[in-house]
Amino acid sequence: KYQGLSVEEMDNIRKTNLNPALSIYYNEPFAVHQGYKQWLFDLKGKRYLDMFGGICTVSVGHCHPKITEAVTEQMKMLGHCSNVYYNEKIHQYASKLADKLPGKLKVIYFVNSGSEANDLAVLLARSFTGNSNVISLKNCYHGMTYQTMALTSNSHYKYPVPQNPGFSNVMNPDVYRGLWGGNKCRDSPVQTYRQCSCEGVCEAGEKYMEQFQEELNYNIPTNGLAAFFAESIQGVGGTVQFPKNYIKDVYSLIKNSGGLFVADEVQTGFGRTGDHFWGFEGHDIEPDIVTMAKGIGNGYPLAAVATTQEIAKSLTKAVHFNTFGGNPIGTTVGSTVLDIIEEEKLQENSKNIGTKLLLKLAQLREEFEIVGDVRGKGLMIGVEFVMDKESRRPLSPEKILKLWETCRDLGLIVGKGGYYGNVFRVKPPMCVTEEDADFTVNVLRYALYSL
Ligand code: PMP
Repeated sequence: KYQGLSVEEMDNIRKTNLNPALSIYYNEPFAVHQGYKQWLFDLKGKRYLDMFGGICTVSVGHCHPKITEAVTEQMKMLGHCSNVYYNEKIHQYASKLADKLPGKLKVIYFVNSGSEANDLAVLLARSFTGNSNVISLKNCYHGMTYQTMALTSNSHYKYPVPQNPGFSNVMNPDVYRGLWGGNKCRDSPVQTYRQCSCEGVCEAGEKYMEQFQEELNYNIPTNGLAAFFAESIQGVGGTVQFPKNYIKDVYSLIKNSGGLFVADEVQTGFGRTGDHFWGFEGHDIEPDIVTMAKGIGNGYPLAAVATTQEIAKSLTKAVHFNTFGGNPIGTTVGSTVLDIIEEEKLQENSKNIGTKLLLKLAQLREEFEIVGDVRGKGLMIGVEFVMDKESRRPLSPEKILKLWETCRDLGLIVGKGGYYGNVFRVKPPMCVTEEDADFTVNVLRYALYSL
């Protein structure tokens, strides 16, 4: 039985001792005390199905006993810095993680957060190419350190201070909200309400490519590109998928401009998209640098950057050091997470349950005028709410909040995202079942009827 601080006591401490810029979910604070598998429990012991835990780092389920056991054993042995002394854990895990990566992506740097990983990727790209310009997509999120804030393109996460120089953004090839659609080409079993008209070649993809080329022509000195950063499906941006060949075509453009391709796998990695272990594999490319965080540590602050020997060599001009990166406890967690994904066939589960859930959610689009789009891949799903299907204007924040709170009251936790905050993000721990998928759809249907 919970005997800790009450919500009121936590509220008072928050007001005086905690970061006042934290965004608080829900009207009434939602206080959680315990987690187990795909469930969360509040202070009164009420159980919620956590269909958002995957985003908040939990890939294999809350408090997985195998991780708890492995960490406990490791804590009894050693918890120290692995960057100055040898310890087997960092070595074992580096080679195990490298085995999961294709081609020449065999050198791993360990850090502690996604922002740090992307920060390091910028440094690697600039150091290797000798160029400073970095491009990312509008509507992207890559972190909140001073440098990654410039990489991120979403004003909700930007402060009115001079942004770090050398970063620019190109048009987001969003198949639902973007200028040119591209829906038919989307890499997903569900098609959107309005299909694009092109046959064969994707006209939308080609137009976005022209825009990209313009950015290179006008703003980037010849051969002056250091890197392009992209997720394979935008997460914080609202589960945004791109026209099918966009990433592959951009990849060629980047290579021709002398830049590196950085795949941000912080949300899409570790089996979440179902078909592949890494989201970029769905786009049929091999990035130069891959960044990972969140699901890699199932709730433990662990993150990594993978790259090639040639690129890594460029960082030997100085010492690159990170006190906690790759510590024995973090690498024990990471290694156990990889074992669990394999043993419990969680990537396959992402594909099976994710596809079923996507198709069931898509039925809601037929039933309700305000369900504008249902999209995603595996267990990375977005449901976009609009005023009406024709205008696609975002549903009002008040209605979104009401939907969200009804879901929570009925025991379902989902996330919110997109620039307008009108996309429900469904990204559960990968151990969810078909029953959980049905519960999610039923609760959402009830919430929509009672709006
Ligand atoms: N990249 C992506 C795609 C993310 O979603 C996030 C976090 N939302 C980050 C990077 C930054 O990760 P962190 O919060 O661990 O710094």
